[in-house]
This record gives sequence, C-alpha cells and structure tokens, in this order.
Amino acid sequence: MPIADLAARVRTGDRRALAQAITLVESTRPDHREQAEALLAALLPHTGKGVRIGISGVPGVGKSTFIEAFGLHVIGQGHKVAVLAIDPTSQRTGGSILGDKTRMEMLSRDISAFIRPSPAGTTLGGVARRTREAMLLVEAAGFDVVIVETVGVGQSETAVADMVDLFLLLLPPAGGDELQGIKKGIVELADMIVVNKADGDLANAARHAVAEYRHALSLLRPANANWRVPILSCSALNNLGIDSIWDGIGQYRRILGDDGSIAKRRAEQAQAWMWNEIRESLITAFQADPAVRAELSGLERAAADSSVTPGAAARRLLDLFRHR
Ligand code: GDP
Repeated sequence: MPIADLAARVRTGDRRALAQAITLVESTRPDHREQAEALLAALLPHTGKGVRIGISGVPGVGKSTFIEAFGLHVIGQGHKVAVLAIDPTSQRTGGSILGDKTRMEMLSRDISAFIRPSPAGTTLGGVARRTREAMLLVEAAGFDVVIVETVGVGQSETAVADMVDLFLLLLPPAGGDELQGIKKGIVELADMIVVNKADGDLANAARHAVAEYRHALSLLRPANANWRVPILSCSALNNLGIDSIWDGIGQYRRILGDDGSIAKRRAEQAQAWMWNEIRESLITAFQADPAVRAELSGLERAAADSSVTPGAAARRLLDLFRHR
C-alpha cells in the first residue's frame, strides 16, 4: 500500500492500518526504514495531542491489573487509550516479563483501547526508538491517552521517562527494607507515586507505605518548583482510588501545561531523540564501512591485549571512516 494511503488510514483510526504501520516502524530493513520515515513525516502534524504516561514497577506489583482498571476508567471518561511497552528482558533472553501472560483481557477487548506488546530488539536504544515512533502513530490514530509500560529494573525506566509527559511509579504496600531496595534514581524519575494493593489485609501496610514514601520524598529536592510529587494509593483489583489518580494527572497537565514545563520537556526530549538518531546512524554506518570492517577485529584484539591503547585504536578506525 502506498505510504500516503497507509497514513490516511491510520488517521481514521483503522486498527489494522495502525498495526501495520507499527510493524513498519519496527522493521530494520533499510527500505522499510525509508518508508517508516516517510510515514512518520506525513503523520507528524497529527501527533502530540495525547497525554503520554509512563508506568513502571517491579514484577507482581500489579501493573497489568492497574493499567486495565485505569484504562477502563479513562475510556469511561470519553478517551481512547493506547498501551505500549518497553520490555527490557527481550534484549537479553529473548523472553519477556511483560508479554508472557494473558494481560489486560478486558481492556484489550475494548474498542477504545489499543494494546501493543514491546518490540523485540537487541538494544534498549533500539526498542525505545521504535516505541517512541509507535507513540506518534497511535496519537495520529486518535488515541489521546498513551501509556508506556516497563518493568522496574533500571535503564528502561530512564528510557520511558525520557519519552513521556508524566512518569508514574507503582509501588508495593510495604515499607522499611523494601523501600530501601527501590533504587533512589527511579524514585527521582517519578512525577507521581502510587502504592497499589491498598485493600483487605494489605490496607494498613499500604497506609504506612504512603507515609514512609512521603517522608522519604520530602527529603528530596523537587525537580519542578510547581509540582510536589503526590503519593497516592489505590486498589487496582477492587477499582478503588483510580479516579483520584486520573484527577491527579489532570492537575499535573494543567499546572505544568500552564507554566510551559510539559512543552519544554517535550522539546528537550525531541532534541535528545535527534541526537540518539545521529549516534545510532553514525555507529551503524561506521560498522558497515568496508575500510573499518577490514581493521575492526584486529584493532579490537589489539586493544584487548594492550598492544595498542583503546584511544589509538579508536582514532585509527575513525580516520579510516573519515577518509574513505
Ligand atoms: P504485574 O506483574 O506488575 O503486571 O502484576 P499483575 O497485574 O500481574 O498482578 C500481580 C498479582 O497481584 C496478581 O495476582 C494480581 O491479582 C495481584 N494484584 C494486582 N493488583 C492488586 C490489588 O490492587 N490488590 C491486591 N490485593 N492484589 C492485586
């Protein structure tokens, strides 16, 4: 199908066209890449209207249960919800933490929802790049709430926080030692913290956890003077507290929309994305260059056995690349 037709069909919200478009941006074939870029260029003016929400938390904290409850609530408010994912396990084992189980069954059956599993990839950078582009495609297709989910293991959180307006960290209803175990860096990325499983036997623990997290967070300097990171609780299972979270997101958008913070964040993200593209493209071209390839493994070995310094090896290869 010509790219202009595919773009037009994506804009009507046609789910098959959208799925096909995402498959195209996920492809690594050079001719597909060219088509994907033409498609993204055609759709770019129709992107950006959605609220972009990143959600993370350790396995078992209740991410899929939460996204299902939250997604259905938001659809009830008249929105269309897309759920994308960045699965950091796919790069190591080929398996996935996020994708293996049947997840979000009710949400996936809803006509106003679109759920796409994590793209497979060899590097987090590659997976993140495709998810970013998928985000633009779902926005162009009329999904105005975009959720990007990831698992709490570190780098993938940063990748997600770097592509969304608001990063929501889902935490278990336990404090103390477990609070220590949550990486401080990840808490610092959060624009909103939600303690899940605030129900039944866990309700008390959840209340304590909220108090502890509030205290821990009061010791951190706020990243934005106009926004104090709220610590909320909910029961995704019993559908309690979900409305307050959506309200909180509304407040965030009003306050940080009005003071220009969200626009600034998006502008910085777009610039950082451009530099990522430059880096990735340069490395790809470098590794594909015949002159570089002829010397690469020899110089890698030489650097490894210290017969040449890594700096000299890099300079030699860069010279070959530059003067080809
Ligand atoms: P994920 O691995 O983070 O996606 O977590 P899941 O959504 O698969 O949930 C893990 C387990 O926690 C499941 O057994 C859920 O039923 C349970 N769970 C999720 N949310 C809640 C909640 O709000 N309260 C309680 N009590 N259990 C929950």
